[in-house]
Amino acid sequence: MRAGCYASFVSTIIGHDDILRELRTLAASADPPHALLLAGPEGTGRRLLALEYARLLNCERRPGAPTPQASFLAEPNPPLAPDALPCGECRPCRHIAEGNHPDVIILGPGDMLCRPRPGDSSHPAHPQSRDIRICQVRGVIDLVSRFPVEANYRMIVVDPADRFAREAAHTVLKTLEEPPGHTAFALISAAPESIRETILSRCRRLDVRTVPRAVIEAGLVERGIDPEAAAVAAEAARGRPGRAIAFASRPDLMGDRGRLLEKCARVAQSRAVERIRYAEELTDRWRRDRALVTPELDAWESFWEGRLRVAAPGGPGPALASTLAALRAVNTARTDLQANVMTRAAFELMLLSFPRLTLEPPPQEEPALHA
Ligand SMILES: [Zn+2]
Ligand SMILES: [Zn+2]
Repeated sequence: MRAGCYASFVSTIIGHDDILRELRTLAASADPPHALLLAGPEGTGRRLLALEYARLLNCERRPGAPTPQASFLAEPNPPLAPDALPCGECRPCRHIAEGNHPDVIILGPGDMLCRPRPGDSSHPAHPQSRDIRICQVRGVIDLVSRFPVEANYRMIVVDPADRFAREAAHTVLKTLEEPPGHTAFALISAAPESIRETILSRCRRLDVRTVPRAVIEAGLVERGIDPEAAAVAAEAARGRPGRAIAFASRPDLMGDRGRLLEKCARVAQSRAVERIRYAEELTDRWRRDRALVTPELDAWESFWEGRLRVAAPGGPGPALASTLAALRAVNTARTDLQANVMTRAAFELMLLSFPRLTLEPPPQEEPALHA
């Protein structure tokens, strides 16, 4: 179990009031959905929303909850109205927020829940695998067949859910369709279009969108971040509160945005050989400190989004298509890197998918000025 990986962040959901309202309604219903899909870009708060659903389902102060085994003296707390939940104070609420609830499980590519076929002693360990494998799905099936340790609802968060290997996707269907009453799934994905329809159709889908800059800024200030720093971090986070929180605590991660965008423009005009050299440079930096590369991927995304605005209004078709393909390539690289795929291959693939541009030099670099 990867305890601690979501520690102390549940209380930091910024934005998404509509989704939080919907989660409360769903959790309070007579038959809460047993499979959610939280679809949206990385860093927007998808995992936190999944954990919030786990808290709503398990809070001891929701109406109809079994009375916890409290001390003899303490009066049990009366139930709260659905819009006041989760209480944030009871044992399940606290343990889920702290990342040490035994029934909240995060499943992703790797070794988590790996259960080889009976008698298969040659099953190799695969902590670095890039897919969610059939052996892990066997582990899931075995787990859900047992009662939770202490929760009302066990929660299995699958992140990223677009990484089920073929056979694994097929095998997990039945469990997703009819999980035992005490288990709920939350599937997380930035690329829901690559999840098979058979899985999608079993999930209640919630689209997690980027959050307005002003909401992120206010959220950071509310959490005690200095207003000036909050404004800068919110601007650089491009709608992703998770990124904004990281930037606010480590401003060095933001990099120099203008400088990065200029670099993108240079690389976009360069030939394959130069791009391969740049991929090598990125790989090197990724190995030293992954956080140093994230602003660069963000810059690439901004760069191609900027091109999209130029290409879109009645512009020529091929430019639009290749710009969209470039944006998709950035996304694929992010998912591949997150799944520990061959780092260098991921960067090369991304950079070589970018179209080669011919750009006007920006005014301040007009050759005449330097002559
Ligand atoms: Zn609670
Ligand atoms: Zn395995």
